[in-house]
Amino acid sequence: MKVINIIGAGLAGLSAALTLAEKGIHTRLISRQPSERAQSVLAEGGINAALDTMGEDDTRDLHFEETMRGGAYLADPVAVKALTDGAPGIVERLAAAGVPFSRNPDGSLMLRSFGGQKKKRTAFAQSSTGKMIMTALIDAVRRYEAAGLVERLPHHTMIRLLITDGVCAGVRVRDDYGGRLYDCAGAVIAACGGLNGFFPGVTTGTSDNSGMAAAVLFMQGVKLANLEMIQYHPTTVGIPGKRCLVSEAARGEGGRLFSEKDGVRSYFMEERYPTLKNLMPRDVVSREMYSELRGGAKTFLDMTGIPGETWEHKLSDLREEIIHYLSLDPAAEPVPVEPGIHYFMGGIHVNARHETNLRGLYAAGECACIYHGANRLGGNSVLGALFGGMTAAQSVYEYRSRPRMTDAVFSGHDQLDCEPSDAFSASLGYMLREGLGIVRNDSGIRTALESVQMLGYENEAERAKKALAEAMLYSALGRMESRGAHYREDFPETFEGFRGTTAAQFRDERVRITFEAVGQGE
Ligand SMILES: Cc1cc2nc3c(=O)[nH]c(=O)nc-3n(C[C@H](O)[C@H](O)[C@H](O)COP(=O)(O)OP(=O)(O)OC[C@H]3O[C@@H](n4cnc5c(N)ncnc54)[C@H](O)[C@@H]3O)c2cc1C
Repeated sequence: MKVINIIGAGLAGLSAALTLAEKGIHTRLISRQPSERAQSVLAEGGINAALDTMGEDDTRDLHFEETMRGGAYLADPVAVKALTDGAPGIVERLAAAGVPFSRNPDGSLMLRSFGGQKKKRTAFAQSSTGKMIMTALIDAVRRYEAAGLVERLPHHTMIRLLITDGVCAGVRVRDDYGGRLYDCAGAVIAACGGLNGFFPGVTTGTSDNSGMAAAVLFMQGVKLANLEMIQYHPTTVGIPGKRCLVSEAARGEGGRLFSEKDGVRSYFMEERYPTLKNLMPRDVVSREMYSELRGGAKTFLDMTGIPGETWEHKLSDLREEIIHYLSLDPAAEPVPVEPGIHYFMGGIHVNARHETNLRGLYAAGECACIYHGANRLGGNSVLGALFGGMTAAQSVYEYRSRPRMTDAVFSGHDQLDCEPSDAFSASLGYMLREGLGIVRNDSGIRTALESVQMLGYENEAERAKKALAEAMLYSALGRMESRGAHYREDFPETFEGFRGTTAAQFRDERVRITFEAVGQGE
């Protein structure tokens, strides 16, 4: 019996499991936390699709063009075309599956404005879109679970891939409650989320996404890409243990950024970008905010002009969240905001079929590098996770392999059955932030790299994490231009010669970086 192992039970993992179950293929859904606690549940603002229900003549081609432009032409156009063409069908299927999307009076799906897009294109369920989509998918997966096609293994951590004759033949996992290790035979889809755990305490995402799965894959020879492309979301607020996101939906519904210094207010985005104003792509907004902050101003999001009806019907969850965490009502007073680490455009290098450089291994969702180039447009990530999960599932379904191993309990000692210490992760995170801020330069990246290289490690997990951190910094050092989220004050221009993928591999005990043509998947 063909069994596919899926690492991660967020949107990408669930989407892959459902696609395979519909084809009668058995999957194991292996995840550190149950789906209900995946980061995907946090998605607020929505999912992009050129549904054109707002009478604005939106098209799939425009969605494609804006995604490519937003990503500074670093994404694979073949993959992006498939994504943007597939988007309306995905949203319609979600609606049919019971996702309570907000609707226009005529019953069609309501769409809102999101950054980097000239048309209203983002479908939403109030400001809890992720939670609503996850609820529908979890429900759908349960039906296949009952039919014996999906086996859910929450509270299980990936330890390593099992590679036989250069092919991914399975995965070793740990039951986090019982501590037992066992080997699961079959091809693997990595759907293990972003690299939040590399920046503990300062990202909008969940620390459950430790980034360790990607670090282990890296050490096992899997190619990673565009690791320097880290998205800072313009509107976040520091709360204990993380940064709280104020969704872009707030600006999509009329929220305005301003800075204040010496009692003088400046609506800087509206002054500098008269067309898209507060809805410029996130890299641009974050850099403008950084420049205001560096000039000694404080930055705020003014949502006091948003009509009461909009709060009630479209943003009630967001308002409640802000009142809960910040003890201030955003409908009545501006919210102090600053940019914070939010999303990782880089990750496991895949082609348009979501194949990695290792036969038998696929990747989808935020852990994969494919659709977002140098900067992700808001609303494209939920879409990319769902579409990527479906595509990876289709590819693995078509993959013909002979069984190379069978399931087994592993009773020996595995050096990777360990975790980095909190102190190690905190030091590494601090060093990375020093080198990979919103504005970067050669000396800052080199200083961070030297610090990381000097950092001692006490176990194999720390060694793997350190190697991936080095790869992030080498990638940033090597890209001697500014593009999307990667802004180098020593190289402020974009150069056509750098319109390529920064590929990172761990070979012969060393991190190696090469530049490849866009879309050159294996
Ligand atoms: C606050 C917030 C709001 C957002 N809002 C939006 C939005 O409105 N629109 C949009 O498009 N995007 C949004 N995003 C981004 C989007 O939600 C994510 O990129 C997307 O949901 C990622 O889905 P995923 O399936 O790839 O990963 P996740 O949902 O993060 O799931 C990862 C899974 O992998 C498991 N896992 C991790 N490591 C291991 C391991 N070592 N072993 C086993 N399992 C492991 C986890 O337990 C989890 O099940 C938002 C993100 C945040 C943080």
